[in-house]
Amino acid sequence: MSLKCVQCGLKSPLYPPKSKCEKCGGALEYESISPESRKIKFSGKLRFWRYGSLLPPVQHIVSLGEGGTPLRKAERLSEKLGLRELYLKDETRNPTNSFRDRAAALITSNAIDLKYGTIICATNGNLGASLAAYCAKAGLICHAIVPKLVDVGKLAQMLVYDAVIEQYGETVDDSIHKSEALAEETGWYQATAELNPLVIEAQKTIAYEVSEQFGVPDWFIVSMGGGGTIYSIWKGFKELKQLGITKSLPKMIGVQPEGCAPITKALLEAHSQPIRSPKPFTRALAILVANPLQGKLAIKAIKESEGLTLTVSDSEIFEAELQIAKLEGIFAEPASSATIAALQKLVKNGKISTNDSVVCLITGSGLKATDVLQALTKKQKTVVLGLEISTKEKILRRLSRKDTYGYDLWKKLGKTVTRAAVYQHLKELSEKGLIVGYAKNGKKFFKITQRGKKVLHAIENLKLLL
Ligand SMILES: [Zn+2]
Repeated sequence: MSLKCVQCGLKSPLYPPKSKCEKCGGALEYESISPESRKIKFSGKLRFWRYGSLLPPVQHIVSLGEGGTPLRKAERLSEKLGLRELYLKDETRNPTNSFRDRAAALITSNAIDLKYGTIICATNGNLGASLAAYCAKAGLICHAIVPKLVDVGKLAQMLVYDAVIEQYGETVDDSIHKSEALAEETGWYQATAELNPLVIEAQKTIAYEVSEQFGVPDWFIVSMGGGGTIYSIWKGFKELKQLGITKSLPKMIGVQPEGCAPITKALLEAHSQPIRSPKPFTRALAILVANPLQGKLAIKAIKESEGLTLTVSDSEIFEAELQIAKLEGIFAEPASSATIAALQKLVKNGKISTNDSVVCLITGSGLKATDVLQALTKKQKTVVLGLEISTKEKILRRLSRKDTYGYDLWKKLGKTVTRAAVYQHLKELSEKGLIVGYAKNGKKFFKITQRGKKVLHAIENLKLLL
């Protein structure tokens, strides 16, 4: 096992896990496969620590029961998409409901081994929540730097697990700089995902698990923020192949939101570096990263695997979030719902064949992003409001905006009912005192009464409750 620069190959001591190469500034990664590892056998239950022999070594194991998450065959969703084999790797089932618990287990174990008392991390949510819980378990102090925009549920987790929370910067990019400076100043253990190569090691176990639960899929879809997650999965599959455990590799698909797509842009415009988003925005806060420090690794994973990348809009993400919930019973956070939104596009445009096998990574629970939930509920309400129950209601709504006559109403209603029916409705509405007729320009005009307005208002309120 060694810690090696991805760019120049310079080796560093295993611990403490450094953030970048001293010589060239390149990313560092653990090389876990050696000639001896061919003899390695995984042992124990399907859990994170089953793969301990392929992880950088630790003495004290901190665990809350992470990993071993279900790989769910998404039968209803795949039927809807016209796909044969679709699986969701359900990382919401981890102890703090996200995939970051794997990283937190390895990092806190390492921090205890190295006798640190405090760890620091910059986080836009999941990692902070995970580390806070694992630090609580291990008796470490967790110092979390969060940006202004962070999912409320994740913040609540950090609070309840007793992390020291400091808000710094607009996006996590700023928080990362702050954490670097603070770690330097204080000598605290650096646990930020982009600055600690153990995170990639921990997350590669997702690939190990999938290979044991299903095998190697044709496609593996991951949403991209900082860029490390897609790379870690790719690394996991590559190692399995090197070890002779599997024979093939998946093609990696990296998804980014339209409003913040520095890695996707770089790939589409053939740049080797991520293209910084000037005004990044997405409601999928877990992947709101303007300048992904591990973007180059993500690009490497996609290129090496002959995969692809694409963007999806926020509304496509929310649509997908609802579909996963309604069809599969999984409440996924927006960032991971992006994978299903992407899959939908790729099946439609034929990039993914209906016979291909696909795994989507569901990184975390939707309960962590309740502010998004509110936005979704509002959207739901407008949708329901837009649906009109009956022609009478449509007439009332028209008349609440402007007085008019029967023939005009019939045209405005799109001629979906007969003229005779419109006159019949007008007659009944008049009889109930909801509208009243009067003569103008030789025609019979109608206007809504106070009573009519009240009834219309009541209907709208009722729909809000539906
Ligand atoms: Zn280097």
